[in-house]
Amino acid sequence: MPISIRIVAADTREPVAGVKVGLCTIGADGGDGGNATFLTDENGMADIGANWGRCRNQVYLVPPTSSRFRETAYEHADEMFVIWGDGTFSPREFQLKLKLGTEEISTDFHPLDIIAVGAHPDDVEIAIGGTLAKLVRQGHRVGIVDLTDGEPTPGSPGPEVRLAEAQAAAKILGVQMRLTLDLPNRRLFDGYEARVALAKVFRKYRPKVVLGIYGKTPMASPDHWQAMQITDAAVFYSRLSKWDAEFDGLPVHTIQKLIWYPLGWASATHETPGSFVIDIGETLETKLASIRAYRTQFPPGKERVFRMVESQAKLLGGLTGVAAGELLISPHPPVVGDLLTQFSTA
Ligand SMILES: [Zn+2]
Repeated sequence: MPISIRIVAADTREPVAGVKVGLCTIGADGGDGGNATFLTDENGMADIGANWGRCRNQVYLVPPTSSRFRETAYEHADEMFVIWGDGTFSPREFQLKLKLGTEEISTDFHPLDIIAVGAHPDDVEIAIGGTLAKLVRQGHRVGIVDLTDGEPTPGSPGPEVRLAEAQAAAKILGVQMRLTLDLPNRRLFDGYEARVALAKVFRKYRPKVVLGIYGKTPMASPDHWQAMQITDAAVFYSRLSKWDAEFDGLPVHTIQKLIWYPLGWASATHETPGSFVIDIGETLETKLASIRAYRTQFPPGKERVFRMVESQAKLLGGLTGVAAGELLISPHPPVVGDLLTQFSTA
């Protein structure tokens, strides 16, 4: 039976490839019984072969150069790797410790299932507030990232008020995390720093799905178009290997799916390729309440916004046979598993 050892990151438990696994066999007399080294594959597995008798081994691990992991020394080996006479062995897994100074980055993260990215606080509420509230009710861990704090803006007395409104809106939606990056409002441009800033958030919170802005918003802030470019790029940057130093040593993370949301009607309709509708019949009121949390942005004189948001949701719902809906766009055609379950009603 082949014997293999799995090497994982001490913080994220992700398999680590390219680790040199050294085994120093301790002989029956307690002396050095020989050395052998092996390399882990992309699944973090080091296959050490089958021809081992009963033995104890000290383990040392040499992580890939310039990774965020610390090399294990022989004399500080945590535990022995033991192979029993019948071919069984333990432990199955060893953890790569982090280099000093990087622990604080990786111990306070709480992985999220979904992250929605907007240019300004209120972008995601207006476009997909119902979807986010629904995802939370379905038991998923949801985060919101605003690339800017949206300041300055005509109606607001200052950034603190705007931030407080954003946090209040997040609370209404029930999302687990809301982060405001300090990229500049009105002067938001797709660029290397902005991409890295957002990719760091992805690497830290490790979402499976990212929701980003789709298309132009004519006559509204040009930041939205830039936010779309930044988000698309950051999804890609998040998974690039051999570049950890650019991201404070945060490990690579592959996002499984990028989905776009249009802001307003101008950039996309239900006829846009890849579009689909989320049923938000049960969360439309929550969505409207979350938008109302932005009191400085939507004072009584701006009731029109709520009528538009509500009409749009009901029109999409009417088109698709539900009470209310929100439009999302998949870069690739969405796949349906069971046609009957998906499209028939009980
Ligand atoms: Zn906006």
